[in-house]
Amino acid sequence: MSEKPHPLSLSIFKDITEIVDSLGVAAYVVGGYVRDYYLCRPSTDIDVVVVGSGIEVAKALGRKLHTKVSVFKTFGTAMLHDRDGREIEFVGARRESYSPDSRKPAVEEGSIEDDQLRRDFTINALAWSLNAENYGELLDSFGGMADLENQIIRTPTDPDVTFSDDPLRMIRGVRFATQLGFDLAPETFDAIARNKDRITIVSKERIATELHKIVASPRPSIGFELLHLTGLLPYIFPELDALRGVEVRCGKAHKDNFVHTLKVLDNVAQKSDNLWLRWAALLHDIAKPRTKAFDARIGWSFHGHEVVGSKMIPEIFRKLRLPLNEKMKYVRKLVFLHLRPIILSEDEVTDSAVRRLLFEAGDDVEDLMTLCEADITSGIDSKVQRYLRNFALVRVKMKEIEEKDRVRNFQPPITGEIIMQTYGIEPCSIVGEIKAVIKDAILDGEIPNDYDAAFALMEKVAAEKGLIRKQ
Ligand code: ATP
Ligand code: MG
Repeated sequence: MSEKPHPLSLSIFKDITEIVDSLGVAAYVVGGYVRDYYLCRPSTDIDVVVVGSGIEVAKALGRKLHTKVSVFKTFGTAMLHDRDGREIEFVGARRESYSPDSRKPAVEEGSIEDDQLRRDFTINALAWSLNAENYGELLDSFGGMADLENQIIRTPTDPDVTFSDDPLRMIRGVRFATQLGFDLAPETFDAIARNKDRITIVSKERIATELHKIVASPRPSIGFELLHLTGLLPYIFPELDALRGVEVRCGKAHKDNFVHTLKVLDNVAQKSDNLWLRWAALLHDIAKPRTKAFDARIGWSFHGHEVVGSKMIPEIFRKLRLPLNEKMKYVRKLVFLHLRPIILSEDEVTDSAVRRLLFEAGDDVEDLMTLCEADITSGIDSKVQRYLRNFALVRVKMKEIEEKDRVRNFQPPITGEIIMQTYGIEPCSIVGEIKAVIKDAILDGEIPNDYDAAFALMEKVAAEKGLIRKQ
């Protein structure tokens, strides 16, 4: 299937062979590494299953390579990095049974087939032997190769067992379907729908990892659509689920904001790999259900959804266990600003409006434009063309103004310090007022963005406010 040299020709595997043969144990490469080889996808992490102690094998390999081994005794796993930086994880072959209300497995030693059986999907249960006597032999006990060829995500055993043992596997299934463009096998799909409420016992952090992988996929909409169809979405992301549906009143309908959001997300995904820009696309209309209103004359409106939406972002990030750092602020800002370029391009594109947008968006202005262009999903072609033409005009203007006025990372040339020193005053509201007048004058193009002009304006405003210069 592949033109590449077989990965088992790597010297690291030969090293493992020597060790496991001398210890008299069987070992296999298993999981994502094998799958990705057949799919011609790049893969660096290697998982090795030992029928015996994975930790012992890892320690022996560590000695051979003179490298540090991290041992996780409670999980029976050990990890090291080879000379080329690949991460290699060793684990003993296991049989597992889970108690119904916990994911803490009762682990017993098992055969390689036992181990393959407890993996999540058949395509992740393929194994290559590493022992000399059958080196490179493919163990495909559950039809993983056929499922790879037919592009099917299927559990190796009864899916109700697989999913109730570790319900995260339901979202992993959706994630693999999205990443690879595969279908969920009907019985796998049905079992997810049946076991969906079990997802509530899974930690938010593990779910977030999978959501990121869905968002980072070539067509993320596949994943969110599947989360909806299986019934998982309301459990893991109720705010997104609330976007679904169309309401009709007096013969007027609004668009389905879930469908629209997924289209915008796919559009952004075509243009950018920036994970957080993609999250901003997913969240840009998140407040539409909360701001929805109907007026018999004008129909449906969602006034202020960008403001309300941006205020919802910290809470959503906290609930989904996304980072509460500058990434969150970036998403919040893009949600807040997402209508601005469109409003700008509907009116006459004035210099001062462009200057203000540059000032507020700063270095994220290109990302904002990408989001806004992606947001135009109207079915009417002439309307789309008109918007895109206007956006092109906005971009030209932005370039001109940025070159002339450098407002993208603009700091007003007169600081609060300067105002306080000049007039010998303490921090007070007047300082803020003078600063605001100067900022507005620069952004509106009334004065140039330089120190002398700003100083002169400060003096004028200060005089009006009765301030006297300290000598
Ligand atoms: P990727 O690294 O691209 O996310 P992967 O398949 O390598 O995909 P990992 O999370 O690295 O996924 O897991 C490695 C292997 O371990 C998987 O291929 C699968 O065989 C097994 N595995 C991982 N998580 C689970 C799970 N929750 N349940 C069952 N098997 C799992
Ligand atoms: Mg992996």
